[in-house]
Amino acid sequence: MCELICSAVHQGIFNPRESHITILRGENKTINVCTLCLSCVSSCVTEAITFNGKWLTVDRDSCISCGNCVDECPEGVIYLDNEGKAAVPDFCQGNPSCVEWCPHHAISVQGETE
Ligand code: SF4
Repeated sequence: MCELICSAVHQGIFNPRESHITILRGENKTINVCTLCLSCVSSCVTEAITFNGKWLTVDRDSCISCGNCVDECPEGVIYLDNEGKAAVPDFCQGNPSCVEWCPHHAISVQGETE
């Protein structure tokens, strides 16, 4: 549910591959979400990704589709969208839909980073 709502909100489609949440199934099942390690920010050669203390933003005009941020994200929750631009977790700009839609209330926001 969280993968689907994330892709719907951000890309207008239901596709887990275009989600900022990754559910790993099977023996090592877990859920990968952005931990705000900011590896994407430091790996971007054009400084297209910025962090405002609460969420990440991409300047689409500055993004050159190199994929560095995708490769460097340890959680695997950044992807290039259908225009080749980096899609980074924006936490629905402070009101994450995954938190709202999880029927089991398994996802929460743990405070804000300065
Ligand atoms: Fe920066 Fe775009 Fe490259 Fe990501 S894909 S590192 S946002 S230029």
